[in-house]
Formats: sequence, C-alpha cells, structure tokens
Amino acid sequence: MVNCLFCKIIQNEISAQKIYEDEHTVIIKDIDPQAPNHFLAIPKKHYAGIQDVPGEESNLFGHLFEAIGKVVKEERLEEKGYRLVINYGEKAGQSVHHIHVHLLSGRTMTWPPG
Ligand code: AMP
Ligand code: ZN
Repeated sequence: MVNCLFCKIIQNEISAQKIYEDEHTVIIKDIDPQAPNHFLAIPKKHYAGIQDVPGEESNLFGHLFEAIGKVVKEERLEEKGYRLVINYGEKAGQSVHHIHVHLLSGRTMTWPPG
C-alpha cells in the first residue's frame, strides 16, 4: 500500500528494529515504547483492520500469533506476563492503518485499559 509506514518498514524502505521476520510476519520494536518490552507484530499483507481480511486469507492470523508466540518464548515474556492489543479507528487510538498487534510486557498493567 502506497504511503503506509508499516508497508515501507516491511519493504525495508524505512528502517526499524526488526526482532523477528518470516514469510508472513514481521515483528519490530515500537519506536515509542509504552512498557519495558513493547513490540509490534505486523502481517506482511496490508489490511487496515481484522474485519477487512477475507475468509480465504484468515491463516494470516495463525501465522501472526505463531510468530508472537515465538517472540514470547525468545524474550521470556511468559515469566513477566504480557498483554496483546489491537487498536482500530480514531477512538481506539489507531495511528497506523495496517493491522498490527501490540505486545506489551515488563510492567504491571491496569484493567480496564484507558
Ligand atoms: P497504533 O497507534 O495502535 O496504530 O500503533 C502504532 C504504533 O506504531 C505506535 O505505538 C507507534 O509508537 C509505532 N510507530 C510509529 N512509527 C514507528 C516506527 N518508525 N518504528 C516503530 N514503531 C513505530
Ligand atoms: Zn501497509
């Protein structure tokens, strides 16, 4: 997608701290971390929201969560606890319109989220 920040990161047109990459998914460090550990898991195919992913593409989510699980293990986050967040739309605070899952860990978190 033209003018999409995460598509540019995926295509290496903009640099980012990639900690994981496979055929379907890239996981980067968030540039403005909201927790001691803050990663963004991004499918390589561009969709703005999960509702835009057609049924025949739904394995995108399987690949995405498989990659997150690998990073949870590599970074030993199961010991610390972690939270996964997907923001969609202005009211939820979405700023990049390409599906991404925030993986946050390393501090105590409150509920309900703000
Ligand atoms: P959201 O607000 O849910 O759309 O999340 C977008 C996230 O992307 C924010 O947490 C930003 O800090 C993060 N972000 C923006 N630009 C970059 C970048 N160049 N590299 C890494 N993370 C970024
Ligand atoms: Zn994109």
